[in-house]
Amino acid sequence: MSKTQAKEEIIEFFSHIKHKTPEQVKKIKKLAMSHNIKLGDKRKLFCKKCLNPHKNSSISIKDGFITIVCENCGFINRWKFKKEMDFGIRYISQGDCC
Ligand SMILES: [Zn+2]
Repeated sequence: MSKTQAKEEIIEFFSHIKHKTPEQVKKIKKLAMSHNIKLGDKRKLFCKKCLNPHKNSSISIKDGFITIVCENCGFINRWKFKKEMDFGIRYISQGDCC
């Protein structure tokens, strides 16, 4: 697989992240690593510890930090808050348009 194809695959994957399993997240991380592709802010879309995609995790922003508590393992994921997050994914509107 070429790097461009891998990138495309990763964008596609993260556009549907809510329907993915931790096993699939593991695979895509491997793919990114093998092609030297940085996931960047996309890594914030799943739990650092158990790789479970955040679906109903509680998100809070405090003191310039974003905190997401994983609904699966309870791990607290924290990042410095940035105004612009570059997830580099295609947002698919699910019937909430217009
Ligand atoms: Zn977790």
